[in-house]
This record gives sequence, C-alpha cells and structure tokens, in this order.
Amino acid sequence: MIGDEPGSDEFRYFPLPAPQPAPGCAECLRLKAQERAAARARDQSAAADARVHLRRHLGRAH
Ligand SMILES: [Zn+2]
Repeated sequence: MIGDEPGSDEFRYFPLPAPQPAPGCAECLRLKAQERAAARARDQSAAADARVHLRRHLGRAH
C-alpha cells in the first residue's frame, strides 16, 4: 500500500498548527498578514517562514 503510512512524507511538512497572533500586537498582525499573503500566493515556503517568525516572536515577546 502506498500513501497510507502514518509517517508519510506528505504530513511532515505541516507538523504544527498555525500560531495565533496576540490581540493588539502590531508585530503579530504583521507576521500573520505576511503568512496570509504568502498562502494566497501559494508560496508555501514563504508561508512556513512567516509562521516560524511568528512562533519565535510569540515565544520572545509574549
Ligand atoms: Zn506579538
């Protein structure tokens, strides 16, 4: 069987849920907007990049 394994590569690229921006934080909103714009442009690597930046910012600033 192909494609049914639990550890299939397809899911390894989306291991984490999208981080949620803190209400009222301009930096969170900026990074979230960046992620949305990238997703809209179907640029998954840029979207993943923005999520990484947002997650890092959330860890440091909140
Ligand atoms: Zn923030």
